[in-house]
Amino acid sequence: MAGTVCIHDLYFRRLMDGDAIATRVRTLGEEVSRDYAGKRLLCLAILNGSFIFAADLLRVISMEVDICFIRLSSYSGADSTGKVTTIFGLTENIAQRHVLLIEDIIDTGKTLHELLPVLHEKQPASLQVATFLSKPGARRYPIEASYTGFTIPDQFVVGYGLDYNGLGRNLPDLYIRTTEEPQE
Ligand code: 5GP
Ligand code: MG
Repeated sequence: MAGTVCIHDLYFRRLMDGDAIATRVRTLGEEVSRDYAGKRLLCLAILNGSFIFAADLLRVISMEVDICFIRLSSYSGADSTGKVTTIFGLTENIAQRHVLLIEDIIDTGKTLHELLPVLHEKQPASLQVATFLSKPGARRYPIEASYTGFTIPDQFVVGYGLDYNGLGRNLPDLYIRTTEEPQE
């Protein structure tokens, strides 16, 4: 796979390859399997960005696991409480379940800051987060995941499920934005 890719109008350079990602995801899967041993886990994978991470993580989790793919939309509420997170596709009753939310990347933390209280209201037995990536330098809300694949600099990334305006999700490696054009 090329060291630099062009998507739409931007260049991205390879930050890590698919083998390094697979090694790290395997370790995360072992941690999850150890922590939830003997329990039945319900994974909630947030579409679209987490679909590849979720598929890989699920296959290295060894105990019983259900998966549900959810989609979020935020809109401004009619009253002064502001943003309300609507969850589409949550077909499972999460009350009394051990829930692991699977996210592609935590950036400002806003998404999870809004989503986690909505899920907590449904009274799961436990609620933790597994994220493929985290950008601590971009954080505006105090959100941390229990399981983090990699921490990365505060730059836009694509690949391994993450897109730039719809493209790049199918790249098996992870790419980070660069201003340098390829040398060829
Ligand atoms: P947050 O709410 O934490 O600011 O952002 C979370 C969402 O923003 C992620 O789930 C992802 O959809 C999007 N996002 C944040 N940073 C990046 C990035 O570097 N690349 C891509 N493709 N999406 C990002
Ligand atoms: Mg996302």
